[in-house]
Amino acid sequence: MTSMDVIVSLCKRRGFVFQSSEIYGGTGSCWDFGPLGVELKNNIKRVWWRDFVQERADMVGLDASILMHASVWKASGHVEQFTDPMVDCRECKHRFRADQIDEVPWLHFCPATKGNKFTIPAGEPCKHCGVTRTLCPDCGKGELTPPRQFNLMFKTFMGPVEEDAAVTYLRPETAQGIFVNFDNVLQSMRLKLPFGIAQIGKAFRNEITPGNFIFRVRELEQMEIEFFVNPHDQVDGRPADEDWHDRWIADAQAWYVRYGLDPAHLKLKEHGKDELSHYSKRTVDVLYHFPIGWSELMGIANRTDYDLKQHSKFSGKSLTYFDEERKEHIVPFVVEPSFGVDRAFLAFMLDAYREEEVRGEKRVVLRLHRELAPIKIAVLPLLKKRPEIVATAHGLRGRLSRQWRCVYDDTAAIGRLYRRQDEVGTPYCVTVDVKTVGDREKGEAGDQMVTIRERDSMEQIRVPMADLEAIFGRLMGETAWPEVAAAYPRAEG
Ligand code: ATP
Repeated sequence: MTSMDVIVSLCKRRGFVFQSSEIYGGTGSCWDFGPLGVELKNNIKRVWWRDFVQERADMVGLDASILMHASVWKASGHVEQFTDPMVDCRECKHRFRADQIDEVPWLHFCPATKGNKFTIPAGEPCKHCGVTRTLCPDCGKGELTPPRQFNLMFKTFMGPVEEDAAVTYLRPETAQGIFVNFDNVLQSMRLKLPFGIAQIGKAFRNEITPGNFIFRVRELEQMEIEFFVNPHDQVDGRPADEDWHDRWIADAQAWYVRYGLDPAHLKLKEHGKDELSHYSKRTVDVLYHFPIGWSELMGIANRTDYDLKQHSKFSGKSLTYFDEERKEHIVPFVVEPSFGVDRAFLAFMLDAYREEEVRGEKRVVLRLHRELAPIKIAVLPLLKKRPEIVATAHGLRGRLSRQWRCVYDDTAAIGRLYRRQDEVGTPYCVTVDVKTVGDREKGEAGDQMVTIRERDSMEQIRVPMADLEAIFGRLMGETAWPEVAAAYPRAEG
């Protein structure tokens, strides 16, 4: 399995992810997406929006503000309940989430071996003395305080006065922006149940123990859908909300697989009764096999009518839907697939990463889905000393850039240039060579053909320059490489 260190290092080296405020020592809980990272992240969001909003007749979008009325968070239950249990070490003062403390290796000074120091795998007892962890896992010495509830919301002040009345919070989830706009969207778009409202945006959580790269951050991005259904409707003899919940669980997993995740790296986790959030009737997490172990990639909750009812109670406004058939006002139930952009980014990177051996040399390749790849086409000149080759390559980059993210690179020999593009997941390279442009001194005309190289197979074909838009139109669409390649002569590798 790909290790986190390998991905962290690739991300930094190749401009995907940098530590936030690195020149000041970094924050450890926030990350900046570099030139290639922002492309990958935008692509994830773009395909998500296309697949779940644009292509569906039962979905609309929204972009609500991050700062909201303070009452929103009282109504939603976040002020009271959006907490994690926290414990502190009395010696080293480190802070841990009480429910995750046995998920990290622990330091132990073993009494059965004259106090020798051991690092013991998470959750396991000491092999020598048999005890399980009770002290601080970091220093191995300090007693831990009893758990206290810690609210994860970032508090801030709205307006120029710092007084209690002006207190509000940075949103810890995008969902509430959808609930408070339920009636606005319903009325303006004349929607009929079932329908969904989707939103992509930042959320903020003052996590007790951020870490594992972008897996747990304090500033995160979510892609959320609130899918409203009529709880009185039945599908195959079951309440509609339960049926839609199962459908969303299946659709969400299929989405990750469609963009490259190995189905064997995904599994479902049903929340037990004691784990359910205060609003939830049933929650299922999709877990991904991260290097830190099976961990939550996204969650799909049946939030019932809890949020709409709460906001109606706190605001005094009716948030109901009129069921024309039954002639009754109802409060819809809502199923919420909540995708995390950062965790999706990490999972796609991990699953795409391969180290291969090609002709005795190591090749690192990111087999990213073509729609996710940050750069779609790299245009490379075979010889940078020949002005006609360079000019033709620049021209091609300009032409193709109107439709796809393209780069030009002439800073190394061709083999090296190919490896660089492989390492960042560029699905296609186009190479311009002497034959393309000809040789005026020798009186040789160019053939106006270029080489296209495919990342995964490393196969190369020779194609007319004039056909490039048509060829890439097919390749970036649904046509597979072998079908396109079959129509053209192979070029030498
Ligand atoms: P966890 O149990 O890992 O703290 P959660 O159950 O609190 O996560 P949800 O409230 O269900 O998470 O949030 C929905 C999704 O938002 C998560 O599945 C994840 O993809 C993303 N997410 C939540 N918190 C973070 C975070 N701190 N960093 C990165 N992504 C996050």
